[in-house]
Amino acid sequence: MSVRPIVIAGEPVLHRRAQPVELFDDELRALVEDMFETMDAAHGVGLAAPQVGVGLRVFTWQMENDDGVPPRGVVVNPWLSASRPPQGDPDPDEEVEGCLSVPGESFPLRRGDRTRVTGWDADGKPLELEATGWFARCMQHEYDHLNGFLYTDRLDDRWRKKARKAVKRNGWGVPGHSWMPGVDPDPFGHDHTDEAGL
Ligand code: ZN
Repeated sequence: MSVRPIVIAGEPVLHRRAQPVELFDDELRALVEDMFETMDAAHGVGLAAPQVGVGLRVFTWQMENDDGVPPRGVVVNPWLSASRPPQGDPDPDEEVEGCLSVPGESFPLRRGDRTRVTGWDADGKPLELEATGWFARCMQHEYDHLNGFLYTDRLDDRWRKKARKAVKRNGWGVPGHSWMPGVDPDPFGHDHTDEAGL
């Protein structure tokens, strides 16, 4: 098992659709183990395989929830449906999201409050869950990663402009940038809350 570097916005694998997993084999289980270890080292609440440079449809989560779902898990080849986000502007205090692949930045975004996810666990057993609130947000964020979208792609115009500037300011938006959890400083600080680190 090992912690893997997390790639940053601009790395092509983050911006294209990930491929379905075809074999539930030792290689997949090793990837999943590494993803859990990397997510923990990054103090993340979710991690998608493209974030460690692997273009496969897999994501992990680590989040207490009110939905009766184990707080830690993995889903392979997921399918997700979500309720529509509420209308209106996102609350810049209450609806702020962050991403380990846009480290240290955060912007507000509306998301649907309920999601249903189906897929498989790392052993190929069917998995089905319903998520609400922040847990639903986490699911939608990770699922977006598998379709080649970052949350910054979904922002309202005003916030998207700010996000673009932030990416530019950091020199990202081009291939070749990554950071190493547990080695590089924690981009969201050790006391970061649930809204960061997806
Ligand atoms: Zn993310």
